[in-house]
Amino acid sequence: MLNFVSLAPLPRTSHRDTLTCTLRNHETNQTRRAFLAGVLRLSGAATLMSANTLRASAAPDPSATTAGSTTVPTKPRKLSWGYVDDIGPDSWGRMSEEWAICDTGKRQSPIELSYKSSRLAGMSEARPELSVLSKRFTLRHKEAMPAAKNKWLLIEPYVPPPPAVIGDAPPVDTVKPPTVAVLTLPGVGKYRLKGAHFHTNGSEHVLNGKQGLMEVHFVFAFDKALDPTSVQDTPRGAGSSHCVVGVLINEGENTTPWIGDVLSPLRSSASDELDSSNGKYIELDLEQILPNFNNSNLYTYDGSLTTPPGSEGIHWMVMNQRASVTREDCELLQNYQGGPNTRPLQDPNGREVVQFPAVLAEKTAPTN
Ligand SMILES: [Zn+2]
Repeated sequence: MLNFVSLAPLPRTSHRDTLTCTLRNHETNQTRRAFLAGVLRLSGAATLMSANTLRASAAPDPSATTAGSTTVPTKPRKLSWGYVDDIGPDSWGRMSEEWAICDTGKRQSPIELSYKSSRLAGMSEARPELSVLSKRFTLRHKEAMPAAKNKWLLIEPYVPPPPAVIGDAPPVDTVKPPTVAVLTLPGVGKYRLKGAHFHTNGSEHVLNGKQGLMEVHFVFAFDKALDPTSVQDTPRGAGSSHCVVGVLINEGENTTPWIGDVLSPLRSSASDELDSSNGKYIELDLEQILPNFNNSNLYTYDGSLTTPPGSEGIHWMVMNQRASVTREDCELLQNYQGGPNTRPLQDPNGREVVQFPAVLAEKTAPTN
């Protein structure tokens, strides 16, 4: 996703707000601290989607009052965004100075991609590689925008609970998130999988003239610790600090098994359980979830977040191979998330799209 140094960091308070629901069941302050520390480290997906509620520090607070020459700040104004009416995608760029790039940016996402308009990668351009280290994933609910009814169903790496404190042992304040999958951009760096989320009511990207019914985004963040040869804290060259892998999901007669597994807690009373806790632990086979990079053509380009603040510099990879979902399952997820959450296509502004062809096409298995 970008020269990610330009990604506007979210104030901690916004994380705290959006994570409140995840903390309900944590009884002690110590556990709360440890849990929050772990979740904040996992907040890549949340950051990339940027919590739907942002404390708009750049926007004037009309309720601020003055006493003499001293400005007395009042509570920061909450800025909510969504996908309909006056908080929809057409309004994002005008809602805050920090979000203006949604309107003015020249490298916004999503865009339309096609075989014809992309450049075939040259022999010297090494293919990105994806390796799975663990299959255990957590599915959890995230209520990101209560005011506008939108929330996000996230899948994130399982984080073990903090160890119990015995006797006078010092409390453990951090829970290191596991590295379950690594994306390697040759010559640039290694990226750790931070989580995944869905967009419904149409895929965000359109590929070869065909829009999917949904799209899943796998969010990766650069992690120097994964590359012993790295001597700096940032990716080499003009590499982005974040990458997102997009898989389009077509409407079909059947739902791809792993998507069915992810949606299973939303059925019947199970959704209540998902709503009321910090997550329902479902063990998912990550090798089934993540696309096989070698089996699919891969389209890459430099784009942006598809949600506010619209930060640019995201390195996008969109797979040619698609998954499948029934109309009923799509509606199940969309109803749960509070409505559609797909940003319309943006102007490509002449951006180059590079295609890496599949290298194991003869072993390609149909996905729908
Ligand atoms: Zn997304």
